[in-house]
Amino acid sequence: MIPVQGVNGQKIAVLGLGRSGLATARALAAGGAEPLVWDDSPEARANAEAEGFPAFDLTRHSAFDGISALIVSPGIPHLYPAPNKVIARALELGVPVDNDIGLFFRSYATRDWDGFDQMPKVICVTGSNGKSTTTALIRHICEEAGRPVAMAGNIGRGVLDLDPAEDGSVVVLELSSYQTELARALTPDVAVFTNLSPDHLDRHGGMGGYFAAKRRLFSEGGPDRCVVGVDEMEGCFLANQLATSAVDDRVIRISSGTKLEGFGWSVFARKGFLSEWRKGRQVASIDLRGIAGLPGAHNHQNACAAYAAVRTLGLAPRLIEEAFASFAGLPHRSQLIAERDGVRFVNDSKATNVDSAAKALQAFPRIRWIAGGLGKDGGIEALVPHLGGVSKAYLIGHSARDFALQLGSTEHEICETMERAVERAAAEAEPGEVVLLAPAAASFDQYPNFEKRGDHFAALVSELLSA
Ligand code: ADP
Repeated sequence: MIPVQGVNGQKIAVLGLGRSGLATARALAAGGAEPLVWDDSPEARANAEAEGFPAFDLTRHSAFDGISALIVSPGIPHLYPAPNKVIARALELGVPVDNDIGLFFRSYATRDWDGFDQMPKVICVTGSNGKSTTTALIRHICEEAGRPVAMAGNIGRGVLDLDPAEDGSVVVLELSSYQTELARALTPDVAVFTNLSPDHLDRHGGMGGYFAAKRRLFSEGGPDRCVVGVDEMEGCFLANQLATSAVDDRVIRISSGTKLEGFGWSVFARKGFLSEWRKGRQVASIDLRGIAGLPGAHNHQNACAAYAAVRTLGLAPRLIEEAFASFAGLPHRSQLIAERDGVRFVNDSKATNVDSAAKALQAFPRIRWIAGGLGKDGGIEALVPHLGGVSKAYLIGHSARDFALQLGSTEHEICETMERAVERAAAEAEPGEVVLLAPAAASFDQYPNFEKRGDHFAALVSELLSA
């Protein structure tokens, strides 16, 4: 645990008692503060009470008397579409609102660091897609290189649950736009931006707000190195603003598909090969084509981002190449779960938005596509250009009928449930085809989360294949 610094004797409110909220309450108490915790869910309050944090009703009018800050969980809206009532009250009263990420950056460095030979480094990864894969890949490479490394944030543990830094340790944090928007301290050594496509727009008041939330990771603390995906104009804009000129090598531009030669430092993947260029010269190259844990051009973008991030730590290209080869990938992201009679079954339940689904659809040539769930604003019309390889779509969930209307000439069937979709797709699939779950929609209409949806798909596939 990282005890929070600078809070001794203060009363600090904590709203939201999930994994990160509870870790926050513990870390505040360890720092000498009195955490006053609240969650609308009685079950979450009971969990906190069982740990010795009695609930304190923050919804009462006078609840903020004597409270010096409010720490909130990322799932709770702080501004758009409308702020949670407790947060709105704190904002009106001028009580500083922060999150566990802000507390972490205020608390991670300690006097012990004076005795270290190699300073600990914090690498933060943000972007619309590929954050988890890139974060896990950075951790894997560091582990293979023998560096003490830990991963937290939106993936794995809450940040304040991490152990204090050791000599030379690396912390990799996956940060969502909700987290970067709110954190009052945001000072990574290396900041990574993978890509940008519309998502969570309701929480940010539109695309401009969403991009601005992610940009804070680069503008607040001034990281030593910035790794920026330039495959969208927003990334070009960000890289342009951060660099003093095209040859400024504090900014490492990355791309999947575009050759980036004229910059101080760049890493790009083309036709399955990753290349690193510095000051107009290629300095390293890696063949990504046979790497099973990183299929498709979207994963090559993640490989470039992770490669660039660990190169800033001084790791050698050959060592990174070896680590790529042993990376197993993450569950629910283009994950091959079974193969029978030449038909492969791939679980990409994490494809909850149109962009990630498009990437999964491009990663395989012939597809029986299971899609649907709780569709997002704008529907799936943007996917139509990527449906060339789809033999047929099997539609499930709340948005099945809406999706059917937007599919153009692609053959489809309304299946409603995952059971029916798996059964129908498997029955009709021909050798060489992939039965791909890439929903392009959230899971909440039928499942508690995308993991449960992916697990259900995998269980149905294994039942079917063992019958
Ligand atoms: P995040 O943590 O940003 O949601 P993940 O690594 O969990 O990213 O991947 C989320 C979804 O996006 C998955 O469906 C995955 O296959 C897809 N994906 C992974 N990397 C990329 C990328 N670089 N660009 C677009 N889609 C991606």
